[in-house]
Amino acid sequence: MSKPWYKKGLRFACTECGKCCTGEPGYVWIIQEEIEDMAAFLKITVPEFIKSYTREVSGQLSLKEYPRTYDCIFLNGGKCSVYGARPKQCRTFPFWSDNLKSKEAWEETARKCEGINHEHAPLIPLSQIQKQLDEIDE
Ligand code: SF4
Ligand code: SF4
Repeated sequence: MSKPWYKKGLRFACTECGKCCTGEPGYVWIIQEEIEDMAAFLKITVPEFIKSYTREVSGQLSLKEYPRTYDCIFLNGGKCSVYGARPKQCRTFPFWSDNLKSKEAWEETARKCEGINHEHAPLIPLSQIQKQLDEIDE
């Protein structure tokens, strides 16, 4: 199989600026295991977590977001307040297949994410990018 356009790796380091957690309507899809992890992180029960922090969309659960700012419910002072237990969708960003489908798509993502091509960002090797892609596609 031919290697992808990013075969030499991509520069990225999350600055935790929080921009990918706000700004436009979106969904952070979560599964049971992630709900349990976040509930434990917040030291609350799973039913309490579901009631306070999630919404059901087409039969799936997503984290709530604020209606006007589109801030994720966990964005607090520009930082993620559940960072240590954030769901897979957040952990694997920006290495999503849509963002990696072409160099142009990656550059477009870079316009919104300052961690991409950041001057202090290390080169993330292909193997690690692939691991993130596999994780989000699971
Ligand atoms: S926009 Fe990029 S640098 Fe900022 S928090 Fe999100 S992933 Fe990290
Ligand atoms: S859970 Fe945290 S990292 Fe994920 S969107 Fe919400 S604030 Fe951002």
